[in-house]
Amino acid sequence: MHKNGHAAASAERQGMKKRVSVLGATGTIGLNTAELLALNPDRFQTVALAANRNAAKLAELAIMLKAEYAALADERQEGELRRLLDGTGIECGAGPEALMEAARRSADIVMAAIVGAAGLAPTLTALRQGNVIALANKECLVSAGSLFMSEAARHKATLIPVDSEHSAVFQSLDEVGSKHVERIVLTASGGPFRTWTREQIAAARPEDALKHPNWTMGQKITIDSATLMNKGLELIEAHHLFGVPGEQLSAIVHPQSIIHALVYYCDGSVIAQASLPDMRTPIAYSLGYPARLPADVIKRLDLASAATLTFEQPDEVRFPALRLAKEVMKAGGRASTVLNAANEIAVEAFLGRAISFPAITATVEETLSRAESELAGIVPDSLESVMHLDGRARQIARSVIG
Ligand code: NAD
Ligand code: MG
Repeated sequence: MHKNGHAAASAERQGMKKRVSVLGATGTIGLNTAELLALNPDRFQTVALAANRNAAKLAELAIMLKAEYAALADERQEGELRRLLDGTGIECGAGPEALMEAARRSADIVMAAIVGAAGLAPTLTALRQGNVIALANKECLVSAGSLFMSEAARHKATLIPVDSEHSAVFQSLDEVGSKHVERIVLTASGGPFRTWTREQIAAARPEDALKHPNWTMGQKITIDSATLMNKGLELIEAHHLFGVPGEQLSAIVHPQSIIHALVYYCDGSVIAQASLPDMRTPIAYSLGYPARLPADVIKRLDLASAATLTFEQPDEVRFPALRLAKEVMKAGGRASTVLNAANEIAVEAFLGRAISFPAITATVEETLSRAESELAGIVPDSLESVMHLDGRARQIARSVIG
């Protein structure tokens, strides 16, 4: 990946406000983004906000940010949203077409922060407008990485990673891109079960897994962090974003979450990015890029009081999801779409107390193995084929769960 200029940069040069849309506005990433937009009314104009079904929260954000358009995925909430926005002059809609309208509206930057494969179609729609995409939704790249990257190139869209590790890599890459990079290391907090035994992990409940030591995040990614699937998804994300082969990508456990990633260069130099674990930093970076957005609300890193920074090898025996994701990264293509779909179903089942914590990864592994014969021949090279494969993989995962 090369760093380059784009429309948003030229908007800034001309002293114009950057036009920003937020898909997934009511989530953890969406709310942090909204906070930064609200703090900088002279720099940003909010175009469209989209979310799943929370009409009250979406309307509140749309009014606060003086958005032009608000969309909910859930059609049943349309009446409520219209009522809440009545008289504000903010246009709104609900249902799949409204979501697409939000993604299509002319903007300089679209924050893609819908969780899971639900974000695929709207994010791809935004990308096809040739926008700058601030990409939080990692599942897009896991499920449809090749399609995404080729469409981004075709439509001259720029992807700015928001995931903290990928923002760290992006910030640590030099102008010539990945040509002189020997390897990239992403850090992982290790999650809430880092020091737990296999037996303890086997009995982990949703409330245990939802207690992340360093980050406050949506439920799905919090569970992914506990299984370490999140780091596996992130390796696949990095593979596509930076065009680096799997052999050159690895993860290291760093419980303090201060260093987010390290880029090793061919001359022995290692460039790492450090900041306190606060998603507003990578979000601010994506909104400001290529300039830096001043963000006084973010606490500064004080190394003397951060005490000790430690690093350890991830344990793929207690956390087999990481091994599984690495295998899938090497296999590529179909397996990656299946991994993502099966993981979404398994995480949902665990949160619903239908399966145990270790069964999350076991379900994904079994789905991958069944899919090898059952789904052979489906090539995920278009949105339609990815969605078809995703749906079939979900069916298999559900039958594995039983
Ligand atoms: P979240 O669960 O807090 O929010 C998800 C958002 O997506 C909400 O606004 C919700 O309304 C919307 N949404 C869900 N289903 C939808 C649908 N079918 N149609 C339209 N909108 C829908 O999640 P989050 O923690 O904000 O994470 C969002 C994405 O960013 C995820 O892909 C996650 O992996 C990624 N990410 C998050 C963090 C973090 O710190 N939270 C860090 C890195 C990456
Ligand atoms: Mg991350």
